[in-house]
Order: sequence, then structure tokens, then C-alpha cells
Amino acid sequence: LKACLIAIGSEMLTPLRADTNTLIVTARLNDIGYHVRLKVIVGDDIDDLARQFDAPLSWADLIVATGGLGPTEDDLTREAIARVLRVPLDLDEQVLERIRARFARRGIPMPDNNRRQAMVPRGAALLDNPNGTAPGLWIETARTAIVLLPGPPREMAPMFDAVIRHRLAQRAGSVRVARRVVKLTGLSESETDAKAQPLYGRWRDRTPPIDATILATMGQIELHLAVQAPQSAEPARLLESAVADLQEIFGATIYSVDDRNLETVVGQMLRDRGITIALAESCTGGLLASRLTDVPGSSGYVDRAVVCYSNQAKIDLLGVPAALIGASGAVSEDVAMAMAKGIRGRAGTNVGVGITGIAGPGGGSAEKPVGMVCIAAVVDQDERVRTFQFLGGRELVKFQAAQSALNMLRLMLLGESAREWAERR
Ligand code: ATP
Ligand code: MG
Repeated sequence: LKACLIAIGSEMLTPLRADTNTLIVTARLNDIGYHVRLKVIVGDDIDDLARQFDAPLSWADLIVATGGLGPTEDDLTREAIARVLRVPLDLDEQVLERIRARFARRGIPMPDNNRRQAMVPRGAALLDNPNGTAPGLWIETARTAIVLLPGPPREMAPMFDAVIRHRLAQRAGSVRVARRVVKLTGLSESETDAKAQPLYGRWRDRTPPIDATILATMGQIELHLAVQAPQSAEPARLLESAVADLQEIFGATIYSVDDRNLETVVGQMLRDRGITIALAESCTGGLLASRLTDVPGSSGYVDRAVVCYSNQAKIDLLGVPAALIGASGAVSEDVAMAMAKGIRGRAGTNVGVGITGIAGPGGGSAEKPVGMVCIAAVVDQDERVRTFQFLGGRELVKFQAAQSALNMLRLMLLGESAREWAERR
């Protein structure tokens, strides 16, 4: 089943506003087996609108348009669809009454403009809008169902859910889409893709085929798996074996098969082991502490964190010897380890982490270039320190440093075998 989405509103043709409604609608449609084949953003112009409504009528099973159902002169969706379908607009007294009552509840008279929202293309069914004045519209043509919804996301989304439940799912039959997100870190996008390539082919040849998409940001790769199958075939179960295929190839570089992020995974490990953590952060400026404490319940294992940006702070707050900073430099494995041990000793936690590096854009040298970050982690008797070289701007270097620190902790907490496994590859 093919769908076309139309986002209506001139503001989305400026740099000031992005269309997000179609992302929500696409996700919901995919779940019931519709494929979005085209998305259009169109301004508040009657001719442009009519043209964009007309074209997909020849191929789409479904058109979903959002926006332009308001009361003002530039809200032209009703007029445009009436023109394209060559039907008149009728004033619907019941809708008018409902809009009037809505204003009355707020103690103000209805502005005359709002009469526009009670104009209904002949033959259209009304879709209730519990969160606003403009009702949505459902129109059937020979081949295409047309859904018109208001622009504000908080009005649009619940209305679309109701449409799916009452009308669209029946048309879509029993087909459902299951999804899994597998996340890994420590490999580049191209390495990941190369290793996963043989699987893609095998998955494509299955019935039903499994679809895989790779989404990469620096420091994090997500493999999105999807399969479409009748409800009776249990599409969610069909993905289990694909996830197992990935685990066999990627092993411990995979940190989550259920969409959890790295801070949640590491937090769970700390909680399960009943151990606590303290952090000493220089170039990440507290980002690691922030991410760890984004997780509900993190007070169970996060003890403290210090941001020790200057050399003096590292000396005062962590007891890093001034001579060590002088000899090795503030960005060095020695200092990272002294930071980790310093904070761990002061906090009396099981785990200590030290991060020091050069986030850029200034401050780099040939020997210590921008993006070089030293990370040390101490977990009880186990000590590890590594120097990373990250690419990207300041924000990306900080993110990757926090990500790598979390991943070091994860591998240390997993134990020796998993760590070796990950490092061998
Ligand atoms: P209203 O009665 O609020 O005027 P409307 O149906 O006329 O409803 P618009 O005027 O087109 O809708 O949009 C109202 C607001 O909804 C916009 O200012 C914008 O904030 C938001 N909006 C509209 N379309 C989208 C979209 N595609 N993605 C995200 N937000 C949107
Ligand atoms: Mg409007």
C-alpha cells in the first residue's frame, strides 16, 4: 500500500520551522504496512496545494495531509481539496455549533473567521479533534483515501491514531511490521557495514524478507531491522533470528538489542553488581555525569563527579601530582589514571573514571592533536587506560569521549573474555 504525505504550511519552507508531522505519520503507517513513497512540503497557496493534491490521486492508496485547517485566510486545505475533487464546500451546522460551544466554554464569543472551520467538502466524513477546533476530514475517492488533519502535532497525532484504529487498519488487513534496533560501538560505519553485508543478502532472500538500515553517528551505530508479515506469523519472532545473526558476528561490540542507550546499559550493570561510580572529567565538562544521571534511578550507583578543567583543579580536587602534569602533560594516560584513582580514592567507590583530552578547535599540537583523549577506568583491582583519537568538532569529540568511557566500563564489567573478544576485532 502506497502513501503520500503532504505537510502544508509556508513556515516550513523557511529556515525557521521543520516539518515533523510526517515523521510521526510515517512511523505509524509503517506499523500497519503502508509504504511512504513521497513526502511533499507545500506553502499556503491554493494553486500549489491543488497541484500537490491532484498528482498522487493517480497512484497513492492513501494521502495524509497536515496543516491549513485553521480559521485564517491562509488556511486553504479545505478549498484546495474541494477544487481538486470538484465538490462544493457545505457549511456543517453541527461542526459550527461544536466550535461555538468550545469558545463559549472559554467565555469568549466565536470570531466570525472560525466559520471557515465548519466548511466541509461534500462527501467528507468528519474526524473528531479533542484538542482543538478544526475537525479532521476523511475523504474516499475511487482509488485513494485522503486524510486531512490539523497542523499542531499535539492535535494531529491523537487524531491520526484514532483514524488508524477505526479506518486504516481495516484497509491494511492483518499485516503488521515488527522492528528491532541493535546498537553497537567501537567500530566504524564502513567496518560494520562490511561485516553485516553477507547477512543483508540472506535476509533479503527470506520470506518474508527482513529489511535492514544502518544509522551511524560517530561513536554509535544503529542497525534497524524490520519485517512485515501477517499478525499470525508473529513478525516480532521473525526478527529474533536476525538479532542472533548479528550477535554472532559482532559479539560484545553490540551493547543493546532493545533500543536501550549505552548509559542505561552501563547503569544497569552497575546496579546489578551493587557497585558505585565516581567521575573526574576534564574535556567532557561533565557530559559523562550528565548522561549517566539521565537514567532514572542512577542515584543508586552514581556517587559524585567533578569537572576539573584546569591543571590546578586536577591538583586541588583529585590530588594529581603537579610534577606528573609537568612531566607527562595534562593530556596523558598518566594523568587520566591519576584522575581516576584520585576521584575513586576520595569517593570510596568501586569504580573511578578519569577523562582528559583536547576537544579543539584550538590547543592541538603535532604530538597531541585535537581530538586526542585519554581515558582511564578503575574497577576494583582492574585498571585500564587508553588513548583515543576522535574526529569531528568539539561537541562530537566530547560525545565520543563519553561514549568510549562508557564502553570501556561496559567491557570491563562484562569481564575478560568479552573484552578480548571485542579487542580482537
Ligand atoms: P491552526 O488551527 O492551529 O491554525 P492548522 O491546521 O491551520 O491549525 P497550521 O496553521 O498549518 O495548522 O499549523 C499550526 C502550527 O502547527 C504551526 O505553527 C506549526 O507550529 C505546527 N505545524 C504545522 N504543520 C506542522 C508539521 N508538518 N510539522 C510540525 N509542526 C507543524
Ligand atoms: Mg493555521
